Amino acid sequence: MERVDVAVLGAGAAGLYAAIEAARRGRKVLVIDHAAKPAEKIRISGGGRCNFTNLGIAPERFLSENPRFALSALRRHTQHDFIARMKDWGIAWHEKTLGQLFCDGPATQVVDALCRDLRQAGGQLWLGCAVAGVTHDGAFRLDTARGQVAAESLVVATGGRSIPKMGATGFGHDLARQFGLRLVEPRPGLVPLTFSDALRESMAGLAGLSVEAVVAFGKTRFREGLLFTHRGLSGPSILQISSYWREGAPIRVDLMPDRDAAGELADLRRKAGGQLVGNALAALVPERLARQVAVWANTPGRLADLKAPDLQRLANVLNGWEVLPMGTEGWRTAEVTLGGVDTRDLDARTMEARGVPGLYFIGEVVDVTGWLGGYNFQWAWSSGWAAGQVA
Ligand SMILES: Cc1cc2nc3c(=O)[nH]c(=O)nc-3n(C[C@H](O)[C@H](O)[C@H](O)COP(=O)(O)OP(=O)(O)OC[C@H]3O[C@@H](n4cnc5c(N)ncnc54)[C@H](O)[C@@H]3O)c2cc1C
Repeated sequence: MERVDVAVLGAGAAGLYAAIEAARRGRKVLVIDHAAKPAEKIRISGGGRCNFTNLGIAPERFLSENPRFALSALRRHTQHDFIARMKDWGIAWHEKTLGQLFCDGPATQVVDALCRDLRQAGGQLWLGCAVAGVTHDGAFRLDTARGQVAAESLVVATGGRSIPKMGATGFGHDLARQFGLRLVEPRPGLVPLTFSDALRESMAGLAGLSVEAVVAFGKTRFREGLLFTHRGLSGPSILQISSYWREGAPIRVDLMPDRDAAGELADLRRKAGGQLVGNALAALVPERLARQVAVWANTPGRLADLKAPDLQRLANVLNGWEVLPMGTEGWRTAEVTLGGVDTRDLDARTMEARGVPGLYFIGEVVDVTGWLGGYNFQWAWSSGWAAGQVA
């Protein structure tokens, strides 16, 4: 039997970070992952360039039943602390947009640096090692493919359920339940939305077109790119709103952000009233979209012939197109898992389970989910760091 001070389940961003911190404190640390390679999600993140943090980290950019929960860890190990680590590692990076920081080179540099730090701190890493179950009798006993492991502390960093083909499981949620912690129902986040057949068909001619838009659900709004695809709508603004969207309710899309569609239509009518609506609108939005907007607003014919209610309908589509999603693409393509281990059952400073000393939950398995843009990795670093100081 292998005896360690700290067993970390999951060699992703949060697990590796926590393991490094604990090993640097002189703890005997073993990280176990069933996947053949560590931190596969870092490797594929940010289009292979890893959007590793965001300059604008703030609690309101995280979703949770208790958004204040994340504050302590985010303040104790900030984006600037992680940036300092990138400097130590000699990994070059740049700011892309909206405070999002990306590696200049491949994301695997971050994975390599984490594994190197773990090794140098004396931590062990078992890859390709399935864990069948965990029991607790003073120590945590892990039943693994390489035999039993006994650990004083157990850090659960198995992530969420998104992208099962990359090794994502609900194991962390099952462990939380087993040890009596509550769960906030997990659901896919940062995921493309799906639409009725009729709406999807109406968008088919727009596939591949990307526009800047404001997408809103209730009071929550995101101004970012919107991408029409063969399956429906995607792009950053849609992924962001998907984390807030609730079934049965429409989202609202402003296709002319910061512009007054009604005013611009009135001008256009004076200048180009003789043109067909679909053609004239190409002065305001991309040509393919212009033709489709005329169809959605049911305004065939010439711009000059439109009555006031027709113009209003057209302006409404341009500045406030209301679309009812049918659902999301689900775990297969979701970038993150909303919900997870209920923060009421965790200590915000250490991530330790309130009723089970020595048991910690960090990273995406916890009910803390960031916006798109580096927020989720920062949560993984910060929560991993917090647990690594005490586990
Ligand atoms: C395509 C994609 C792109 C992304 N891009 C970004 C980005 O650019 N910026 C950003 O901030 N976030 C991004 N994210 C989100 C980010 O990857 C996650 O939030 C982050 O990886 C969570 O870290 P984690 O350590 O908690 O979990 P993970 O990174 O998911 O790691 C969990 C680990 O646990 C292992 N595991 C799971 N179940 C078991 C089990 N039963 N036994 C043993 N091991 C197990 C897994 O194999 C995995 O290695 C992206 C996500 C996806 C899917």
